[in-house]
Amino acid sequence: METYCDRCGGPSPDGGTGHEGCRAARQLEPPRYCTRCARRMVVQVTPRGWTARCVEHGTLTSA
Ligand SMILES: [Zn+2]
Ligand SMILES: [Zn+2]
Repeated sequence: METYCDRCGGPSPDGGTGHEGCRAARQLEPPRYCTRCARRMVVQVTPRGWTARCVEHGTLTSA
């Protein structure tokens, strides 16, 4: 199973090792990359949070 960092798009095979800074930033920011394919997602910030859409894997929301 492939997993990628949702902030920098780099490989993140064991639950985020090496991406501590990314995870900290993600507390405040929407994701930028799909965790399943590392494609850059289309991110929209909404009044209630954000949505992030991967063309292949669909839409994530902050809710
Ligand atoms: Zn990262
Ligand atoms: Zn994807």
